[in-house]
Amino acid sequence: MKCNYCDEIFNDDDSVMSHFYHLGKNHYDVLTDEDRIIYDIRKKMIESKSKYESQKQTDGDSDLIFNSRNSEV
Ligand SMILES: [Zn+2]
Repeated sequence: MKCNYCDEIFNDDDSVMSHFYHLGKNHYDVLTDEDRIIYDIRKKMIESKSKYESQKQTDGDSDLIFNSRNSEV
């Protein structure tokens, strides 16, 4: 995927996350309202996911639970 704000291209397996971190680092000040909302939602999900995983590290189903939650958003 290509960055909407510059010519950077993300082709790695985790391109969505790479792009997410790239946006936050390089373009957060110029994001459109819509992109900023998406960024903030994703950031919040990542934070709650890492919080959840650190609490439930022995639970192997944490990723599945997280994914089913995401699909409802
Ligand atoms: Zn960019």
